[in-house]
Amino acid sequence: MAKLFFRYAAMNSGKSTQLLQIANNYESMGKTVALYTSAIDDRYGVGKITSRLNIQREALTFSPQLDFLSQDYGETACILIDEAQFMTPEQVRQLHELAHTRGIPVICFGLRSDFRGHPFPGSSWLLSLAEDVEEIKTICQCGKKATMHIRIAPDGQRVKEGPQVSIGGEAQYRAVCGQCFYQL
Ligand SMILES: [Zn+2]
Repeated sequence: MAKLFFRYAAMNSGKSTQLLQIANNYESMGKTVALYTSAIDDRYGVGKITSRLNIQREALTFSPQLDFLSQDYGETACILIDEAQFMTPEQVRQLHELAHTRGIPVICFGLRSDFRGHPFPGSSWLLSLAEDVEEIKTICQCGKKATMHIRIAPDGQRVKEGPQVSIGGEAQYRAVCGQCFYQL
């Protein structure tokens, strides 16, 4: 029985590395996977999933307009989605339906909240609909589990307000625990 999976974490948790490992496992069994990343994540060039260990794969991209249900997945054994927080609620619904009507497992990797501690709409829906939800653990600089992240400007100052999406630009992020989120 195929399911919708959500693997969430703070920034810099090795999500993409895990995703590429799963793709590899399927392919080593001679199966085909569909890889997606957000069209707005151009950190490594459009349509690429890059792990921090410098492994890179080409991927399909999703913009808010993409209708997952209208795609032809043929013999695809698994759909893997990176940067899943950028999906629309409707797209999460489509993937949930796809898993249950076409029997293709869909594994989504993404952030739960943004640098302000506000939820991403796509992640809220994933947390509501995914049958299998798991946290990828990361450590804060203080040693506690990091559950959030903060945005750091090029001058090293923390940024507390601004647009939810600012990737591929100058901003840097650091995974932190809840206590450091409020005290830094
Ligand atoms: Zn901390």
